Amino acid sequence: MFLPRSLKVKRSADEDESTAKKNKLSSGESLLEETTEVQDCKSATKETSASGCSLNEVAQECREPVAIPSDLGVANTSLGKDNQNTDEDSSLEEPIKSFSKLQRWAEPGEPICVVCGRYGEYICDKTDEDVCSLECKAKHLLQAQEKKKKLKSDQLMKAESQAETLLDTSYSYKDHSFILGLQDEQIRNLKLQLGIAVLGQQVPRPIIEFEHCGFPETLNHNLKNSGYEVPTPIQMQMIPVGLLGKDILASADTGSGKTAAFLLPVIMKVLKETETPSALILAPTRELAIQIERQAKELMAGLPNMRTVLLVGGLPLPPQLHRLKQSVKVIIATPGRLLEILKQSSVQLHGIKIVVVDEVDTMLKMGFQQQVLDILEGISHDHQTILVSATIPVGIEHLANQLLHDFIRIMVGEKNLPCSNVRQIILWVEEPSKKKKLFEILNDKKLFKPPVLVFVDCKLGADLLSDAVHKITGLQCISMHSEKSQVERTEILQGLLQEKYEVIVSTGVLGRGLDLVNVKLVVNFDMPSSMDEYVHQVGRAGRLGHSGTAITFINNNSKKLFWDVVKRVKPTGTILPPQLLNSPYLHDQKRREQQRLKQLQNSLVTGDNIMDIIRKHDKNNSQR
Ligand code: AMP
Repeated sequence: MFLPRSLKVKRSADEDESTAKKNKLSSGESLLEETTEVQDCKSATKETSASGCSLNEVAQECREPVAIPSDLGVANTSLGKDNQNTDEDSSLEEPIKSFSKLQRWAEPGEPICVVCGRYGEYICDKTDEDVCSLECKAKHLLQAQEKKKKLKSDQLMKAESQAETLLDTSYSYKDHSFILGLQDEQIRNLKLQLGIAVLGQQVPRPIIEFEHCGFPETLNHNLKNSGYEVPTPIQMQMIPVGLLGKDILASADTGSGKTAAFLLPVIMKVLKETETPSALILAPTRELAIQIERQAKELMAGLPNMRTVLLVGGLPLPPQLHRLKQSVKVIIATPGRLLEILKQSSVQLHGIKIVVVDEVDTMLKMGFQQQVLDILEGISHDHQTILVSATIPVGIEHLANQLLHDFIRIMVGEKNLPCSNVRQIILWVEEPSKKKKLFEILNDKKLFKPPVLVFVDCKLGADLLSDAVHKITGLQCISMHSEKSQVERTEILQGLLQEKYEVIVSTGVLGRGLDLVNVKLVVNFDMPSSMDEYVHQVGRAGRLGHSGTAITFINNNSKKLFWDVVKRVKPTGTILPPQLLNSPYLHDQKRREQQRLKQLQNSLVTGDNIMDIIRKHDKNNSQR
């Protein structure tokens, strides 16, 4: 592979062509217009040295002609049509960008320069971070140096060298001596207090601090940088089980820190792996995949050879294929796009050592199920599997069991119940009155806490209601659904996080997994089609223990769900509307379920009913 001296271009070159290119260089021939490069670099040097730091090394690199691999045709697909070269000669003229201002902005989901936020076209060979140009590489190296100095002064260098030693030896998880020193009774109480329930053989004890995991210091530092001081309950139990290499089926409240709970075992599993890719994380939506990748990058920063690739639909394929060739360790993908790439044989999954399926209940439902199973089929059998969601219905639990081997079931919080820190209000509102009721809520000073997330059941409904809200209330409102382009969807999500919008009317696309930290009020304008969706949508209002409110409009259109609503919402102390509690549909559903249970009980043979069963059997026989 041919790479410029210091910046590794993220474009892989064909071996023969790269050798030709090397020869050209060694014979003194430049593939680029040297003068422009030298000029550019001189000013880059000047600019950065103004900050008092030397850029000699980078300037030296810039003064030397930088050769570009000959397969730029591939890379140019990511540069847009205007830049596309049509013949081989012109393809050789794509120079490494000297300055950040010469680089374009990243499309959503594309790598981002760690310095300026533009398209991170290159990978810095010293840090493996994404950068857009020589200028930003120089700045990035200086920043990295500064950071290192700071660490040194905090005596973290010593710990870092210990971490390096740890990276040199293979990692195996053992209960920390502090945890081992606790009595069984104390561990039982801890689990009880935190609502941790576990099933399975040889379950390690929960950790109490991240330090109990024996992570490399860089990872501990990244955890602190991300604001993770202490593990959340799901992390306390899931991380040690994951680090032991066991298969896991885990359910925990929405927003309870599940992502880091699976990312940390993933990181430790593949840190020493030489095969690439060696980890696969599947998620149902692009937005969730993007969010997982962002968190993964935060936690992996500074760890050697830990590159990620995002393979999701709705974004151009060539840059994703191109990045796949750069020895990436961790794939984060939606099933459809990954299958598309697998069909082209552009990636092999035989080196995968750990697979995570996030939102597993959605992923194993009809629609996604076959795609997920097809993907898992191509992975060698000795991999570790982690399946997670806030809701795991019984049917999905059975299917999930078949994908796991000798697994540990972890449950935190009330099984399949909405997260307890969200106050739920269920209102009986007939269809024609729903808009009026929504406007009342948006006008109510006590209830209205922007940004408000309003869930509806169809795309057209989202557009229409969003227009109506804007017209009637004057609030900044926008709709969100799967027919919007990826660029629009990303812009809306950013707008939501930056509080640009006061109201967002969305279909279920925003319902799952997304960390919409600032949302305090969710309105289910249309009752979701299942209680699992309800739990996820309500969960958007209560991330990581923050309190929020979810208001749901219900009427006879959702009559099929009445008994489920009672079973899953009433235990949280929510007062249900009398129209629902007195509904004949509710009583009918309750009666049917009781009958089913009775039949089930009758079919079980116990000491109490065995004589009845024999008598019934004899009676039937004699009648025949
Ligand atoms: P998740 O449930 O994984 O979507 O996480 C919800 C939010 O909690 C995200 O913003 C995470 O960054 C944050 N988070 C996860 N774990 C911790 C932790 N141990 N301490 C503080 N914040 C956390």
